[in-house]
Amino acid sequence: MGEIVAAGLSAPGPLDHETGVILTTQNIAGFVDARFPIAARLAAGLDGPPVFLDRDTVAAAIGEGTIGAAKGARDFVYLTVSTGVGGAIVSGGRMVRGATNTAGELGHFPVGPDRDVRCRCGSFGCVEAYAAGRNLAEAYGVADASVVYANAAAGDPRATALIARAEAALASLAVGIVNALNPERIVVGGSVAEHEPVHVLEPMRRAIAERAFKVPAAAVTVVPSVLGGDVSIVGSALAARDRAGGKGQWFL
Ligand SMILES: [Zn+2]
Repeated sequence: MGEIVAAGLSAPGPLDHETGVILTTQNIAGFVDARFPIAARLAAGLDGPPVFLDRDTVAAAIGEGTIGAAKGARDFVYLTVSTGVGGAIVSGGRMVRGATNTAGELGHFPVGPDRDVRCRCGSFGCVEAYAAGRNLAEAYGVADASVVYANAAAGDPRATALIARAEAALASLAVGIVNALNPERIVVGGSVAEHEPVHVLEPMRRAIAERAFKVPAAAVTVVPSVLGGDVSIVGSALAARDRAGGKGQWFL
């Protein structure tokens, strides 16, 4: 067996990838306003290799950009449509971090005016509030979004309306991404996208063709993730290897 040179870890944000601290995260009990030094804690437990932390969607973009669906692309967006909606932006061959490392949180892009469509971030009308699996399931009153898709397929009007609304939110997001960022690829992962591409990737493609600026629309393709459910794990391993070796400046 080879020597273990580093360990990679991904988590929902917001987090500080340089110090390995999770600042706060809505979706995991005990991590709200926690400022939890998870990388240092894990490194102490492992008693050996350094541990590198990054946001789950950033890790996914590193994975897809290095060996996956965005390999070779210098301008791409990774989008996950799963329990939640999230993303990461690579522009000119660099990860876009923003001032406080929350750039790429595309799930909270506002796409609707409905004040009653509340989002966990405290706002309303976010893409996530319409299109995330958990939000769809909650709005319909079931435990899993797969029930909503199945009932829509069976002709249930309430399920059909909720899914139409989710599709419209993703369509608006796709047009916004293309018009604002001019990516050459949008890689879409996450369990909802994987199981329901007709309701996730297809409406994004149609909206880009119909509504986006023509020049960037002609330059972009919307493609599924090739790393699937392991995308953040693979990306974290690749990132940890590169960070331990002093490489990987493009994503730091
Ligand atoms: Zn939000």
